[in-house]
Amino acid sequence: MILSIESSCDDSSLAITEIATKKVLFHKKISQEAEHACYGGVVPELASRLHAVTLPKLLEETKPYFDKLKAVAVTNQPGLGVTLLEGIAMAKTIASLQKIPLIAVHHLKGHIYSLFIEKETTLPLLVLLISGGHTQIIRVESFERMEILATSMDDSVGESYDKVAKMMGLGYPGGPIIESLALNGDEDRFDLPVPLRNSKLIAFSLSGLKNAVRLEIEKLGGIEGMSKQDKCDLSASFQKALKLHLVQKSKKIFKSETIKDFAIVGGASANKYIREAYQNLCNEFDKTLHVAPLQYCSDNAAMIGRFALEAYQKKQFIDPYEIDVVVTKKQQAGMLL
Ligand code: ATP
Ligand code: FE
Repeated sequence: MILSIESSCDDSSLAITEIATKKVLFHKKISQEAEHACYGGVVPELASRLHAVTLPKLLEETKPYFDKLKAVAVTNQPGLGVTLLEGIAMAKTIASLQKIPLIAVHHLKGHIYSLFIEKETTLPLLVLLISGGHTQIIRVESFERMEILATSMDDSVGESYDKVAKMMGLGYPGGPIIESLALNGDEDRFDLPVPLRNSKLIAFSLSGLKNAVRLEIEKLGGIEGMSKQDKCDLSASFQKALKLHLVQKSKKIFKSETIKDFAIVGGASANKYIREAYQNLCNEFDKTLHVAPLQYCSDNAAMIGRFALEAYQKKQFIDPYEIDVVVTKKQQAGMLL
């Protein structure tokens, strides 16, 4: 069995995956959403301290599996340095004490492997990753070969939902809130710009759309001046412009990529409105759409365990004394959200 640990942002999660059957025998996550909600985003130091409390609690629950552990896996990038370290410290301690191999997992590859937790691998795949920190289209040829075909030049999809929700005083995380308000909104009321509409660039950009939402809020007299209906209509109009942008750029890639299987992963892939748009696009291009089970869209240790299974078979281990976090300067400064 493999014990996997995820602590790259605001979710503490542990899973136990059986190597022979690839089945998840134990999976639990403790989310910190409520603790960060009043700040409208994740506060790194608070997140780190909360992981320090919750990870050992979760570990206690995995005790029955301990003597059967063959490896321990942990996310070491990308994410918040101070929260990744909590998981890494636990993982390297277990690996040293139990004398079992340690596997370092790239969080975004974990999101991709969330697709295979409950069904068999079908590669190659084209993947749209829409999460709290990333927006990318990736060609996944194999476990080793993954190529980024398009990426966001500024905000990510999840981040833009979170920021729009924050501007309307709706709380965190914004994705599910905006999605549900939009169900009762008129998506044609606000004429928001579809980003990079007239550009040949195959890339994503969401900060301009976010700014356009801000200007509409100001025109309505700020949060105080907005009725419930205004918020529903603005949420729906924002989602529509975002969807048109994602689909327009994905279409450009679909035209040149022959891979028949397409998947959406990451926290924002739980969004039914976006899923529906991609189902239509896949129908148009005769591609098959794949999505992960809802519980595995946002951060979780089961996806880290699923990726680790592949790494275990390939004996891709790391020395517990060598493992470190890999973070960008922006993440180091705690500017992820
Ligand atoms: P990354 O994976 O890039 O490091 P992350 O781990 O913080 O970032 P995830 O946990 O994959 O991100 O996803 C969280 C994001 O998903 C949040 O920004 C949240 O608002 C967004 N999200 C969750 N549910 C929905 C939804 N139904 N619609 C849109 N966005 C959603
Ligand atoms: Fe994530």
